Amino acid sequence: MTTESYWQATATSLPPFPSLTQDLTVDVVIIGGGLTGITAAYYLKKEGVKVALLERNRFGCCDTGHTTAHLTYVTDERLHEVVQKFGKEAAQSFWEAGAAAIDMIYQNVRDLAMDCEFKWVPGFLHASLASDDKTARESLQKDLEAAVQMGFDATFVEEVPYAKQPGVRFAHQAKFHPLKYLAPLLERIAGGGSYVFENTEASEIEGNPLTVHAGQFKIRCDYLVIATHTPLTGKSSLASATLFQTTADVFLRTPELSDEIFGPTTLLVTSGTREQLIEIASSMEGQLTAAIFGTAVDLRDFADLVSILETKVGRLVFNAFPTGVEVGHAMVHGGMYPATSDSRSTSVGTRAIHRFSRLVCYQGFPQDSLPDELKDDNPKGIWRMVDGEFTKNTC
Ligand SMILES: Cc1cc2nc3c(=O)[nH]c(=O)nc-3n(C[C@H](O)[C@H](O)[C@H](O)COP(=O)(O)OP(=O)(O)OC[C@H]3O[C@@H](n4cnc5c(N)ncnc54)[C@H](O)[C@@H]3O)c2cc1C
Repeated sequence: MTTESYWQATATSLPPFPSLTQDLTVDVVIIGGGLTGITAAYYLKKEGVKVALLERNRFGCCDTGHTTAHLTYVTDERLHEVVQKFGKEAAQSFWEAGAAAIDMIYQNVRDLAMDCEFKWVPGFLHASLASDDKTARESLQKDLEAAVQMGFDATFVEEVPYAKQPGVRFAHQAKFHPLKYLAPLLERIAGGGSYVFENTEASEIEGNPLTVHAGQFKIRCDYLVIATHTPLTGKSSLASATLFQTTADVFLRTPELSDEIFGPTTLLVTSGTREQLIEIASSMEGQLTAAIFGTAVDLRDFADLVSILETKVGRLVFNAFPTGVEVGHAMVHGGMYPATSDSRSTSVGTRAIHRFSRLVCYQGFPQDSLPDELKDDNPKGIWRMVDGEFTKNTC
């Protein structure tokens, strides 16, 4: 059985493109030659922007060359669940963006007289073949109602073709050959100060001035579009530092976002009100550290936030990032809450040695048989705790 992608095997119209062989300057560099990168480069070029599109392998080699290629606004996340999580308005915009994208693709197909097997077809969302009919119906009904309310052309069908399961039929979806669609776009990008390169891997990005390195050559640009689908990880497949951003509204509606993820990842929550900040802090589970950035006045004004954080974290840092902890006498770090008065479980700091101590109680032993440290006359003259008092006295 052949495992070659059908699209790649039949993409006769996709010509080879050159590699980068000189330094260049353009307005925008686009890294990644799949559907996203090629579309971005095509539209920017059309607007008169000078672009350089870089693909490390061949155009359409990755997801775009292996997709099922349904053009649909029906998202993998079920519509009624999107409404629950993000509200009706956001869900509607999400689906309308999908519908607009299909229309945009159709407009290109028509304007450039493309021979890319584009065809309008209905799309079906059906119950899983293994699902219980009643629950599946209810959930499909919820999607149908939401879609119709938003103005999408959807109807319930008792038996979806092939699947023979109840489902929802969405009109005005489409299918196409992705690589035959992208070839005419690619043809129109190079020229007039714009470039298209294959077998050209963006290996490094410098910020000031913005420069993309590809092997021994570099391209200066004002803007950069990263269209690599997965975040750029250089040549390794290891996760690289990634900054995600969301709004306080979304964060509060999506509890999974507050899960602690070990690894080089940060989530920035923005656009919140003071009330939301307090609500977020109150809803957090125990954490190792909280860092507060601000002025002494902010600290006073947000005293209620500090009070909440005191109950949530073991370490409060002001105007600094929580780096590794110093291994000193003051450090007692036994797990979730680093600042603890209970040193028995500390694995950091000088008291960590106590984890290995083995306590023994001697009862009724003659003085001669006791260790010197425990003899009544304290022959070593050491400090001892006797009846709750530190003393060097005999007892
Ligand atoms: C089996 C399957 C079925 C799917 N079915 C559908 C479907 O029916 N409908 C739908 O809408 N979506 C579907 N998808 C998803 C859809 O195919 C992808 O979302 C889409 O193709 C992603 O395009 P892209 O351009 O963002 O990424 P990609 O096509 O992955 O392109 C990214 C490109 O970046 C390049 N690159 C990476 N790093 C560098 C670098 N350092 N320098 C230069 N280039 C670099 C890669 O070589 C790659 O060519 C499916 C996906 C799969 C895998």
